[in-house]
Amino acid sequence: MNEILYTIAKDSQGKLFTALSAEKGSQYYCVNCNNVLVLKKSGKVGPRTKRPHFAHKSLMPNCQPETALHFGFKTLAAEKLNQYLEADVPFNFNWRCEFCREQHTGNFTRKLKSVRLEYDLKYCKPDIALLDENDEIFAAIEIVVTHKPTESVLNYYLEHKIILIQINLKSDDDIYLIEEKLTKPNLVKFCLNPKCNVCDNFQQKYIMSIVDGKCWNCYSPMKFAAMKDGGNKFLFGPEKFSPTEITYAREKGVAIREYHSKITGDQYLANFCPKCGTFIRRYSKLQNYFSYAHEEALPITDFRIRYNCNYCSEKKISDEDDWSQNLKW
Ligand SMILES: [Zn+2]
Ligand SMILES: [Zn+2]
Ligand SMILES: [Zn+2]
Ligand SMILES: [Zn+2]
Repeated sequence: MNEILYTIAKDSQGKLFTALSAEKGSQYYCVNCNNVLVLKKSGKVGPRTKRPHFAHKSLMPNCQPETALHFGFKTLAAEKLNQYLEADVPFNFNWRCEFCREQHTGNFTRKLKSVRLEYDLKYCKPDIALLDENDEIFAAIEIVVTHKPTESVLNYYLEHKIILIQINLKSDDDIYLIEEKLTKPNLVKFCLNPKCNVCDNFQQKYIMSIVDGKCWNCYSPMKFAAMKDGGNKFLFGPEKFSPTEITYAREKGVAIREYHSKITGDQYLANFCPKCGTFIRRYSKLQNYFSYAHEEALPITDFRIRYNCNYCSEKKISDEDDWSQNLKW
């Protein structure tokens, strides 16, 4: 992290000013220690000139610019959320989901009825608490300059179904990027996919991709089908499709039949070329074909087929298995 400067200060009324919005000749105070700050804004640009900032009149060894940045950002972020709330317009944000790898979009104002700073949950105080119409907290925004929320706070949020939205600040310039930073949080502990009935984990989205490609043997056009996750990662081929999915792929013009390996004796369903009969075998062959299709931007059509729980399938538990119901309380 670069040296953090003071880019936020308040006037005698407590109103916040950034170093860019502040004017010379006015009186400013430190948001941490309340001492007088001097605005340093030369108007010059160049490698030797520092960006506009405030400085204490006399040295304050116990006052940290990181604390001022944290305070300034969360206050201005809460103001920004309130502006959207009052205007009654959506405020979208995006995150890369750590549960399903997909890019999700959320809307801050969908359930939002009020924004609170220093909301006391007894156990912890989120930087910004988002409350719904029942005055219940449904999301906590944590602004991280130096301290990440502790493991026990994360667990508390998880247990109480509070969505953690974490924004990491890297520079004092982030004070000018309130909206942008809110739009792209560094971490959102939430997935939009439905949860598993059995184990309560978020399910994975399984998308069937049908590629308009060419046979690697005879070069005639052929379609092949593969399953991928929401992050475009290859999962498997027809060998693991359900009977409905096989029928579905065939209806879309994909040729699938049983492959029989003379060497290993393996038998499974695979994509094949209807012209010359060559198979695209499972594992690496199909996976390579699939990534090639992505790289070469071959026509790929996606069909969302189903959700599946990875935790349960690892343990070979299926939603359809009757005995899985025994696991429920
Ligand atoms: Zn200070
Ligand atoms: Zn997700
Ligand atoms: Zn499950
Ligand atoms: Zn062929």
